[in-house]
Amino acid sequence: MNHPLLSILTPMYNESGGIDHFFQTLEQALEDVPVDYEIICVDDGSADDTLQQLRNHADRNPRIKVLALTRNFGKEAAMTAALDFARGDAVLPIDADLQDPPELIGQMVDQWLTGKYEVVYAKRASRKADSLMKRKTAQWFYRLFNKMSEIHIPENVGDFRLMDRKAVDAIKLLPEKDRFMKGLFCWPGFRHTVIEFDRQERAQGESKFNYWRLWNFALSGITSFSTFPIRVGTYLGLIVSFCAFVFAVVVIIKTLTTGVDVPGYASTMVVILFLGGIQLFFLGLLGEYVGRIYKEVKNRPIYLVAAKWGFDDDQTA
Ligand code: UDP
Ligand code: MG
Repeated sequence: MNHPLLSILTPMYNESGGIDHFFQTLEQALEDVPVDYEIICVDDGSADDTLQQLRNHADRNPRIKVLALTRNFGKEAAMTAALDFARGDAVLPIDADLQDPPELIGQMVDQWLTGKYEVVYAKRASRKADSLMKRKTAQWFYRLFNKMSEIHIPENVGDFRLMDRKAVDAIKLLPEKDRFMKGLFCWPGFRHTVIEFDRQERAQGESKFNYWRLWNFALSGITSFSTFPIRVGTYLGLIVSFCAFVFAVVVIIKTLTTGVDVPGYASTMVVILFLGGIQLFFLGLLGEYVGRIYKEVKNRPIYLVAAKWGFDDDQTA
């Protein structure tokens, strides 16, 4: 019988300690799932022997395909590369650290095969494995993002989701260089359903995302999908101008009725500092967007492939 093809996409950066365990768990989980599959692993410029291990696995199992990038381009770029090379009727990104349980793939595929959904999300029912700080900041981020942008990203859903070819082809129409995949994945819409799971701790190694990186990631996400922050500047400017106008009227009337009032150093300083602060803040914010425009117009490729293994010879992105 002809099964549909599922492309599993895994970006890997310095994951060498866990690769054997990863493939073992994944391949076992896929055994009873009614699909053909390919596993596309992207070595995102690892400094350890991740690539060598991936190649060994590709030699062992022809369903494993390996893309090596020329350097570390970051998870979003690596994911984009995998998406470009995927040939599946559906794709399913999964982290290499087994924080996304492969055992769930069967259920996700079942939902997809009903034909009712193009997208099946796997949602973390709890974030027990994360610290309180990470949970809270994540929660704030999702709220803020969803308030400000025109698309809605589901809370506590990572990249772990199944997407039908229709959705994938739509995502591939989005050419931006600054890739916030969680947002891009949601942009096409389509019918979706949600499966819940408990997210485990990393099987081994450590997270590559510290708070600084997460903060920049969040900033990139919001500015990629919303111009609301700069619009706030417009409104704030209007409000402050209006207040200044009212204040000017008050000053004029006061001067005409009670004469010139020389002391006023404190209030002047307050106004100057306040306005200066706001102006700098929004200048910075504007810079964020200008920087992004700059990045887009340079039009550099999102990633560069150094070599690939396991793909058909003529296959390109
Ligand atoms: N990753 C990557 N390039 C990077 C950073 C991370 O390909 O520059 C991969 C990493 O190997 C893993 C996935 O992205 O497969 C998720 O990374 P991690 O587990 O560190 O993120 P977290 O689970 O803490 O969000
Ligand atoms: Mg992880």
